[in-house]
Amino acid sequence: MKTFAIGREQRIPALGLGTWKLVGEDAYQAVTTAISVGYRHFDCARIYANESDVGRALSDSCRSGMVQRDDLWVTSKLWNDCHRPEHVKPALQRTLTDLQLDYLDLYLMHWPVALRHGQELPESGDDFVSLEEVPLESTWSAMEDCLREGLCRNLGVSNFSRQKIQQLIDGGTVKPAMDQVESHPLLQQNELLEYCLQQNMLMTAYSPLGSADRPERLRKTGDPVLLENIRITEIADKYRIAPAQVLIAWAINRGTIVIPKSASQQHLEQNFAAANIVLDSEDMQAIAALDEHYRIIDGKFWEMPGSGYTAAELWNE
Ligand code: NAP
Repeated sequence: MKTFAIGREQRIPALGLGTWKLVGEDAYQAVTTAISVGYRHFDCARIYANESDVGRALSDSCRSGMVQRDDLWVTSKLWNDCHRPEHVKPALQRTLTDLQLDYLDLYLMHWPVALRHGQELPESGDDFVSLEEVPLESTWSAMEDCLREGLCRNLGVSNFSRQKIQQLIDGGTVKPAMDQVESHPLLQQNELLEYCLQQNMLMTAYSPLGSADRPERLRKTGDPVLLENIRITEIADKYRIAPAQVLIAWAINRGTIVIPKSASQQHLEQNFAAANIVLDSEDMQAIAALDEHYRIIDGKFWEMPGSGYTAAELWNE
C-alpha cells in the first residue's frame, strides 16, 4: 500500500475505509472484513454514531492477532457541538473510549461551524454559535493541548478553505497536517491541493465515488452520478477495471489520500486493489478536464434563517 509522509516520521496509508453510513453490525462487519482484505486506515467520526461498533471490530482484530495497533491508522473528528475549548478533550476522550484506543493517529475539526453543546444537528438558527463567540483558533488551541497530552498524534481540519487554514496557521502553534475535503473528478480542488502541499500538509478526498448512498436531505435534483460518468466508464473499460477503481487510482495518482466507504466485500476488495493501479498521463489529463467545481456535499444545510452561516462564507468562494 502506498503511504504518504505525515508529521514526525510517520506514514499514512493512501487508501482508508470511510465509515459514514455504516450502522451497527454493518460497521463491525465492514471494518473486520476490511482488515482481513488488508486495509489499515480507518476514517471515523463521532457524528457517524458508530464508533463503538468500529471500536469493537478494531479491538477484536487486534486481540485475534490479525493486526496490531501500531499497524493501524485511525482518524476521527471533533463534532460541531464541542467547539468550546472545555468540550474538546472530553469529546476526544469519548471517541477514544468508543474506539477502544489509547490514542488517535489523526484528529480533525469536522467543520468550521459551531453548534450549541448537546445539539448534534441543528433544528433552527438558534442552535448555532457564531465563530466570533467561539473562534476556530480557540477550538484549535484546545486540540493542540490534546496533542501535547498524547491523546492524538496529528491534528488536522476538514471542510476548511485555504483562508480558514491560514487563520489557524497564523493564530496557532501547531500547523494542521491535513485538510479532509470533498474531492473527485467533478470537484478536484486543485488550488486547495496546491496550497496544502506548499504548506507541507496533505489532502484527503472524501466522497471520492460520489457518495451514491448519501441521505435524501443531501440530494439535489440533477446531481451527477459520478460512477456512471461516460469518460470514467470509458477509461474503466480500457483498463478492464471498475469505474470506482478509476476514481480511486486517479485520486492516489494525483497525490491525495482517498477514503471510499463500502459495506460490501466485493467492493472492499476492488477498492483496495485500486490503490496499486497506475493510470497513464493521457487518462490522468482526460480526468483532469472533467472538473466542474461541483459540490455534492454543498454545505447549504448550515444555511438556516438566523444561523449566521452561509455556504459562500463557509467555502470562502
Ligand atoms: P463514497 O465513498 O464516495 O461512496 C460510497 C458509495 O459508493 C456507497 O454507496 C458504496 O456502496 C459505493 N461503492 C463503494 N465501492 C464501490 C465500488 N467498488 N463499486 C461501486 N460502488 C461502490 O461516499 P462517502 O461515504 O460520502 O465518502 C467516503 C467517506 O468519506 C465517508 O464514509 C466518510 O468517512 C468520509 N466523509 C467525510 C466527510 C467530512 O465532512 N469530513 C463528508 C463525507 C464523507 P457499498 O457500501 O454497497 O459498497
